[in-house]
Amino acid sequence: MPRGLYVYNSLSRQKEIFEPLNAPFVGMYVCGPTVYGDAHLGHARPAVTFDVIYRYLIHLGYRVRYVRNITDVGHLEHDADEGEDKIGKKAKLEQVEPMEIAQLYTDRYHADMERLNVCKPNIEPRASGHIIEQIEMTQQLIQKGYAYEVNGSVYFDVEKYNQLYRYGILSGRVLDELEAGAGNERRQLKQQTEKKNPHDFALWKKANPEHIMQWQSPWGKGFPGWHIECSAMSAKYLGERFDIHGGGMDLLFPHHECEIAQSNACFGKIPAKYWLHNNMVTINGQKMGKSLGNFITLRQFFSGKHPLLEQPYSPMTIRFFILQSHYRSTLDFSNEALKAASKGYKRLMNGLKYIKSLSFSAPESVSPQEKHLLEIEEAIRQFYQAMNDDFNTAVAIAALFQMLKKINQLFVGQIQPSLLGEDGFNKLKNYFITFTEDILGLLEEKPMYPEKAIQLAVQHYAEAKQAKNYAKVDEIRAHFKEMGLVLRDMKDRIEWAYDEN
Ligand SMILES: [Zn+2]
Repeated sequence: MPRGLYVYNSLSRQKEIFEPLNAPFVGMYVCGPTVYGDAHLGHARPAVTFDVIYRYLIHLGYRVRYVRNITDVGHLEHDADEGEDKIGKKAKLEQVEPMEIAQLYTDRYHADMERLNVCKPNIEPRASGHIIEQIEMTQQLIQKGYAYEVNGSVYFDVEKYNQLYRYGILSGRVLDELEAGAGNERRQLKQQTEKKNPHDFALWKKANPEHIMQWQSPWGKGFPGWHIECSAMSAKYLGERFDIHGGGMDLLFPHHECEIAQSNACFGKIPAKYWLHNNMVTINGQKMGKSLGNFITLRQFFSGKHPLLEQPYSPMTIRFFILQSHYRSTLDFSNEALKAASKGYKRLMNGLKYIKSLSFSAPESVSPQEKHLLEIEEAIRQFYQAMNDDFNTAVAIAALFQMLKKINQLFVGQIQPSLLGEDGFNKLKNYFITFTEDILGLLEEKPMYPEKAIQLAVQHYAEAKQAKNYAKVDEIRAHFKEMGLVLRDMKDRIEWAYDEN
């Protein structure tokens, strides 16, 4: 069914046909979290985006090795040179061992991702477990003449690199611009003259005695720069050249630019063929970020406990909200948008619940109408077309709602399964489930009561209705409402459903 898959490559600034280096294998590296605080919506976006990309590639038959790292050596603000070690800083505040902080927030990150139904990566390397690889790569860069040591720190020599390659190939920045923008740093440089040029970046930093996270190296005690971990770990697990490198747009410069420079200088290759970047989550038009202090953590979304939240939003609502926008568009937070997402998600789940319960039957008197089959096939085609167009989940969800329309017609008895024909019915059921659950990763958030108990309540409701006990009917309806459910009185039956309001 799917024709070619096209992805937007930040490196070429255009959509390109996706052709893995070594099909059917696909290597994908995505920059993971720095574990010194709870994940917020800005962290959920890349996780969900690359989760759907991973799921879709698998659906297409690729064998994907997905690597997503954990930055637990405390990466630094800005250029990895200035600023304090984030994990170390937090550890000092909370009087605990830095690895305890890293472990705590890694566990909490995993729990949040599980609630969002984000698949685990195949390999999740920790930066702290790959200090040796990072030192080795830094040594190689020194040997090749692309890095220099000063007072126990090692810097990447951007000017040297530029004699053969082009620093700025990904971000489109040129050195002159960078120099003009580095006025501040240049002034600082007069005091600390370690770097040859302001745009040089740290591969290894000498640690002051009070710096808590430090390791032994050929240059004395210190800690790795922020960029080298991803170069060293992606090369270790995916090779010197692999297919996809992903992350948020805020990582494009300097982080990914520096990764390219390091790997290129070391191996003579740009590490990834396709560079994919998700856009930012905004709040009142401003980027949601830890450094700006305007973030809402996932746990706050789930509990509703944040001054900006009018109500709690469930994990699947958050997932649906993220997928309703194409990953390269900005995603603006608002309660209105989240409420709309909650409604849309529940409509989808009501359709999913119903179609799962339905099986095909065909009384002889009814013959299928071809138009239904054609409409179903058209919606399926549109779903694939959207996903093949740089994973456009926004348009894919619209196609899914076309299929939902058909399911709702079945639900209200406007059409019978037999009218779709067996082929049409099976396509509707199977593709709807596959698209929703397997590719988009949207699952039913089941009510807190077991299905049996709910069915029993439905039965009581039916009896009360039969007995015209309207006080009881209202009481049961109110109970359902409290559970986030509704009762639907059909001509021939009563069904419970998720409350879409
Ligand atoms: Zn990275």
